[in-house]
Amino acid sequence: MSEDLGGEDVVIDCCGSLFIAKKHPSGYYICPLCGRAVFFSERDLILHIGAHAKDRLKALHKAPRR
Ligand SMILES: [Zn+2]
Repeated sequence: MSEDLGGEDVVIDCCGSLFIAKKHPSGYYICPLCGRAVFFSERDLILHIGAHAKDRLKALHKAPRR
């Protein structure tokens, strides 16, 4: 039914946090957080998601205070 979307959902476990990523029929994954980065292995995707998570933590710590 939704096969025209050209991708299937895969669950990515990144340090205990679960993310739903799109897996393209051609075999690559698309980052669920930025939707731009493309990866050819699940491990690379997990590393990338981990980087997003770190950025978020950094952003929280660096929240501007005045
Ligand atoms: Zn990303």
